[in-house]
Amino acid sequence: MQPQHIRKGMLLIVSGPSGAGKGTLCQRLLENDPSFRFSCSVTTRQPRRNEIDGVHYHFVTEEAYRRLVAEDAFLEHATVHGHHYGTLRQPVEEMMAQGMNVLLDIDSQGALNVMRTAREYVSVFIAPPAVEELRVRLCMRNTDGPEEIERRLNNARAELKRIGCYQYVIINDQLELAYAQLQAIVTAEKQRTTRFQPCIPESRR
Ligand code: ADP
Ligand code: 5GP
Repeated sequence: MQPQHIRKGMLLIVSGPSGAGKGTLCQRLLENDPSFRFSCSVTTRQPRRNEIDGVHYHFVTEEAYRRLVAEDAFLEHATVHGHHYGTLRQPVEEMMAQGMNVLLDIDSQGALNVMRTAREYVSVFIAPPAVEELRVRLCMRNTDGPEEIERRLNNARAELKRIGCYQYVIINDQLELAYAQLQAIVTAEKQRTTRFQPCIPESRR
């Protein structure tokens, strides 16, 4: 048998303000690129309609969340818009060990924590074309009440100040263009020699 190329998994951090389009872009990437797996976070917030426990999030009580923190089960965790969110360490490590690419849709506090501790990662900030556009999109999404939307908009301004901490930024104005840019980043990052060690044979057969 021919020796095989070696591919190492990529830890892809996607971050940005609520309503910027992270979920939409991540969903597309997961649908189109079978090498990616989604890191299903733990959260104490209530499920939205259409959200499935164990698919979109692991929805847990405050008590269960505190237990996971005490057990050091999180790669990172943060309080975002008044709720707790955390990335489970074990599934991420297992998927990476199997050579899969792992996608984290997390806020900027969590992203900065992962950047401080992970050996290798790719970080992408998804920005809106304007802060006001976030209000329009969150209203259109119709998953959060007016107070929650205001809270998310206020947090957005702080998140936007952290763009410079990321390796890449995408302005999600036209969705098609934004997705093409995300794909371009992923395509290039897969070819890094730190992740891809090709085995070049003497002959083609
Ligand atoms: P996030 O995950 O960052 O909070 P979502 O992916 O849920 O954001 O997107 C928020 C809303 O904006 C959704 O209703 C989505 O369909 C819409 N949306 C996403 N990208 C665009 C875009 N480029 N133009 C207009 N609406 C968009
Ligand atoms: P939502 O409540 O809209 O699903 O998510 C709110 C924010 O929490 C988003 O910015 C999302 O990226 C972030 N988030 C989701 N999961 C995690 C996580 O595990 N850790 C951190 N730090 N943020 C998360």
